[in-house]
Amino acid sequence: MIPYGKQSISEADIAAVVEVLRSDFLTCGPKVDEFEEAFAEMCGAKYAVACANGTAALHLAMLAAEIGDDDRVVTTPITFLASANAAAYVGARVDFADVDPVSGCLSADSLEQRWKEGTRAVVAVAFAGQPAEMPRIANIARERGAVVIEDACHAVGGSFVFDGASHRVGGHAWADMTTFSFHPVKSLTCGEGGMVVTDNPAYAEKMRSLRSHGMVREAKNFKAFGKPENPIAEEQVGQLYEMPELGYNFRLSDIHAALGLSQLGRLGEFVARRNEIVAQYNAAFSDLEAVRIPALSRWLHADRGHRLSWHLYAAHFDWVKLQVTRPELMTRLREAGIGTQLHYLPVHRQPWYVQHSGSFDLPEADRFSQSALSLPLYPSMSDDDVKRVITKLREQLSGNADA
Ligand SMILES: *Cc1c(COP(=O)(O)O)cnc(C)c1O
Repeated sequence: MIPYGKQSISEADIAAVVEVLRSDFLTCGPKVDEFEEAFAEMCGAKYAVACANGTAALHLAMLAAEIGDDDRVVTTPITFLASANAAAYVGARVDFADVDPVSGCLSADSLEQRWKEGTRAVVAVAFAGQPAEMPRIANIARERGAVVIEDACHAVGGSFVFDGASHRVGGHAWADMTTFSFHPVKSLTCGEGGMVVTDNPAYAEKMRSLRSHGMVREAKNFKAFGKPENPIAEEQVGQLYEMPELGYNFRLSDIHAALGLSQLGRLGEFVARRNEIVAQYNAAFSDLEAVRIPALSRWLHADRGHRLSWHLYAAHFDWVKLQVTRPELMTRLREAGIGTQLHYLPVHRQPWYVQHSGSFDLPEADRFSQSALSLPLYPSMSDDDVKRVITKLREQLSGNADA
């Protein structure tokens, strides 16, 4: 079976995890710091805060930006639930804007047209690895006093060219915080894990505290203990912690961090191999009239030396022309040993959001979702695996009109 996505674990990855298991610290040890430092450097960001998963990363970003009850947060419907859920966790009202029909990313035009009073954060997702139009999205959001959170769970290790310069995901100026997930299906894995990167020291400090119950550990930063109204013996203060606000246990363990750190050393290879496979698929499917291969949105301009980190190969199919339904094709491919997946059912159609956010008319998102199907894409796919996917898919589509 060729699944649609799969982790790539080397002997060195395994050895890195075993080394932690033999050490003194399974959690709260040095590996988390090392992973954060290396990850920040990879992105070109000042700070990286590791946490339990990508959802916790988004939740921490919401808390750092002080999004709360009376606020609105706008995001894209073509994403995993977590991009929207994080805003709901902090009590914000979640809105959706429409997507760019080519990339499936949040559309800057739609964001501007549908902007609502009280919106305090925008969550833009780099769908499949292709960034949303961050320069314009950031302008629109910042002019209106909103924070920009880039959900880059699909785009780790990628970069794009804009205005004559190369910009790294997590390191460019058009996001205030950028979040990542290290779930095994993503391009770099910790088993479970997440990260927020930012250049803002106040956000970083706040997220570090909130990922561990809101605790402040350094006595010099205590705001209440040791003061006349809250006296604590001087000699105890250094051993205590203070909780000025309510946080969570969103920590990453050293076991997970060691795997992430080891994987980070292989990220360049992963990204390169993913690009090779994407190029092979593109070449093999470009003649099929009823299939649209993934393309770059206009603002990114093709042929400019982007090095995107493709997480998904989300192609688009004209089911009517092909005279096959998506479930039928998925079943037939599964029978031929090939896993596929839909990314995504639009989040604004999910019952909880219909109930809590009301209804949204987002025709591009509906169209994008309706035609999408993701083919297998992971670095350990051999050229033969790729050929098999191509052959089987073409077989399934031929015999159907126009394929
Ligand atoms: C995977 C993913 C998340 C959530 O990450 P977890 O680590 O599974 O919590 C959030 N946003 C997007 C776009 C994702 O793909």
